[in-house]
Amino acid sequence: LSDEAQSVLDEIEEQNVDFLRLQFTDILGTVKNVSITADQAEKAFSEGIYFDGSSIDGFVRIQESDMRLEPDPETFAVLPWRENVEGGSSARLICDVFDTSTGQPFSGDPRGVLKRAIDRAEEMGYTVNAAPEPEFFLFEEDEDGHATTKTNDAGGYFDLAPKDLASDVRRDIIYGLEAMDFDIEASHHEVAQGQHEINFTYDDALSTADNVATFRSVVRAIAAEHDLHATFMPKPIARINGSGMHTHMSLFTEDGENAFHDDDDEFNLSETAKSFTAGILEHAPAITAVANPTVNSYKRLVPGYEAPVYVAWSDRNRSALIRKPAARTPAASRVELRSPDPSCNPYLMFAAMIHAGLDGIEQDMECEDPVRENIYEFDEEKREEYGIQTLPSNLGEAIDALEADETVQDALGEHVYENFVEAKRQEFQEYLVDVSDWELEQYLEKF
Ligand code: GLN
Ligand code: MG
Ligand code: MG
Ligand code: MG
Repeated sequence: LSDEAQSVLDEIEEQNVDFLRLQFTDILGTVKNVSITADQAEKAFSEGIYFDGSSIDGFVRIQESDMRLEPDPETFAVLPWRENVEGGSSARLICDVFDTSTGQPFSGDPRGVLKRAIDRAEEMGYTVNAAPEPEFFLFEEDEDGHATTKTNDAGGYFDLAPKDLASDVRRDIIYGLEAMDFDIEASHHEVAQGQHEINFTYDDALSTADNVATFRSVVRAIAAEHDLHATFMPKPIARINGSGMHTHMSLFTEDGENAFHDDDDEFNLSETAKSFTAGILEHAPAITAVANPTVNSYKRLVPGYEAPVYVAWSDRNRSALIRKPAARTPAASRVELRSPDPSCNPYLMFAAMIHAGLDGIEQDMECEDPVRENIYEFDEEKREEYGIQTLPSNLGEAIDALEADETVQDALGEHVYENFVEAKRQEFQEYLVDVSDWELEQYLEKF
């Protein structure tokens, strides 16, 4: 066993862990679990754990369904909210998925897809850092324990108690995250009532994607302990802000320098950072399919709610798709993509972003000047004059854009791409033929 694996075994002993949850995500970003008893841990590290992949969304065809999970010892964490009956604890390990017939990483494993993107960056001499800003709503549950859309507070941006009734919940969520080794930078009430944001420190892209997956389960589990439902649905309530997951990224060189920083540039951005930005802008419509993968995502991407609609970058204004946040130190120079929402699969979204950005660097793409005006207020003519494109306005258009963009398709790899498009086309089709409450309200009595 590796030293890391050995030290996990010691931890399991020390922390009285009875059960281990081996986790991975399916293509749609749902966390899947295979639970094993602690005495199987050594075997899990030495041989992996076999499971039937045919029942996991978009994983494999029935006839070739044997998969092997290989736990990554660096992801070991004791679950803070789960006390076992006998007083022992449960822990989780995030796994890579292997195809048993070839012994190779399984091409349908989103974590493997991200690793491939990171490898490409490494070949070009870079490590990728990422930090997300996940937002979510806390809603009350009804008597049967089902989620409602009733918020439990009426607070607003950066409000404090007593208006921000959720600050206790948020505090417990933060304790829970800290117990799982998160480094929390800030947490605050967001603009909408019942809406919150918790930021954690940047890390390498793989750890950050793992963290996003973990974050969503911790938030939901701890909210549930307070009889609240935490949702990462992008736009649960019409006509108020939706929930985004702005994602910050930078590339560091092998000697630990930030390749995105340039002291002499007006925006402190290097040519590398600008080409990376240009690459993301170029592939923005296709990235949207991955960053905003639900029908509901597009109810958020409308003007007026601090969510991006137009493909442009800016050093200050928040109506743009990419923003260059103020950086206090050279290490903090980075770009912020504002379109992603927390319903996305973080592994696939990061992979799409990385490949698009690297494509920009490889092709020496150039960035236009930043747009400093409020783009929401531009009319079509002015947008044309500035050459500003619009993001896809629904899931169908986003899938069309993905089907027209080979760079983003390659980022996902054939297996993920095909299964993703199939699932999303079907989802969009179901939505198109559905009759909504809005239509009934508008038409039922009128006609
Ligand atoms: N909630 C906004 C969004 O949908 C972001 C608001 C903010 O963080 N300033 O992206
Ligand atoms: Mg923020
Ligand atoms: Mg925010
Ligand atoms: Mg932000």
